Amino acid sequence: MRKISILGSTGSIGTQTLEVVENLNSIHVMAITGNSNIQLLEEQARKFHPELVAVMDEKNAEVLRERLADCDIRVVCGMDGLVEAATYEGVDTVVTSVVGNVGLKPTFEAIRAGKNIALANKETLVSAGQLVMDLAKKHNINIYPVDSEHSAIFQSLQGNAGNRIERILLTASGGPFRGKKREELMQVTAADALKHPNWSMGSKITIDSATLMNKGLEVMEAKWLFGVDVDQIEVLVHPQSIIHSAVEYEDGAIVAQLGEPDMRVPIQYALTYPERVKNPFPRVDFTKRNQFTFEKPDMETFRCLSLAYRALKTGGTLPAVLNGANEIAVARFLKGEITFLQIPELIEQTMDAYTVKQEYTLEDLLEADAWAKDYAAKVCFQ
Ligand code: NAD
Ligand code: MG
Repeated sequence: MRKISILGSTGSIGTQTLEVVENLNSIHVMAITGNSNIQLLEEQARKFHPELVAVMDEKNAEVLRERLADCDIRVVCGMDGLVEAATYEGVDTVVTSVVGNVGLKPTFEAIRAGKNIALANKETLVSAGQLVMDLAKKHNINIYPVDSEHSAIFQSLQGNAGNRIERILLTASGGPFRGKKREELMQVTAADALKHPNWSMGSKITIDSATLMNKGLEVMEAKWLFGVDVDQIEVLVHPQSIIHSAVEYEDGAIVAQLGEPDMRVPIQYALTYPERVKNPFPRVDFTKRNQFTFEKPDMETFRCLSLAYRALKTGGTLPAVLNGANEIAVARFLKGEITFLQIPELIEQTMDAYTVKQEYTLEDLLEADAWAKDYAAKVCFQ
């Protein structure tokens, strides 16, 4: 029986992972973690019987410990708790579904402890792609993509070992503001941006999808996961979100993975690879889903995507700064402190003020992230 830890079990990916686990009936959940939703953590603990539950805040952990006093479950807290869940003995695969750079340290520790990673937390690869991939190689572990596009690429690579990739077609829905120009985006609110046309996700990635930063982060994620150059990755807007991404080989053949937009499918594949296991999730009816369209992303209106390319081309510690600044920009936009169009401005100002290091360690990346967050939190607009 496969044994897993879920970092961020209370989030959108975390709860869907538990739905997959419930349906598979062949996976034991050894550890779960959350930030503040102890009600849900308690329910999950009672249902899935993990040995360990980690909560970020110490007071919340104490409350949960009392609530679970009748169960044989240990409750731990803070970053140490998160790392304990990531490295828990007996676990073979760690699902990294926390949001943001907080996933960096536990992912590193999980790899060092020899765990395979089912990776949803793309921010980790954006900030520390090179270090993560080097460490994974050193410890001989596998990283299975959970992100739908990367799972599609991974699936399109099966059976093609040794064949060179000519191009990756990374599809994007375009988000709720596709086709809009800057003037039309001046007044949009967080509520408008949170209405994603195809996917239901956590708030941070939903805003990232509206700004197209999500696609920028995914270009970096693809570069590291599949070892391709940035100019081999083509972002293709496909508003129907049925083709989840594709690989073009040197003979011109394109292999793609299709399906309804349902994260449970890539989550399941990351957990059952190389097997495919029957599930009751919705199937595509092509007589109804009968129009596929494609367009280029509008990088002038959605400047976050060009900022991501700039960070990727410069490299070094700049992607970590882009990522940290973006986390703050999204949080400030959700609080109503800055406008939608100020999100890229805030990130750009932070990147401009930073001196990039080309040689770096994990500590340097954590420092770059903290510096960017601090800087971005202080920038004021008229
Ligand atoms: P979410 O906001 O729904 O859930 C985030 C989880 O992380 C929660 O369990 C929360 O408790 C935990 N968390 C948040 N802040 C924390 C902190 N400071 N310390 C410890 N734990 C913390 O997010 P999500 O949509 O599930 O996304 C999770 C990750 O997966 C992100 O990196 C996102 O980009 C990626 N992803 C999500 C989807 C999706 O469909 N939701 C798709 C592809 C990739
Ligand atoms: Mg995605």
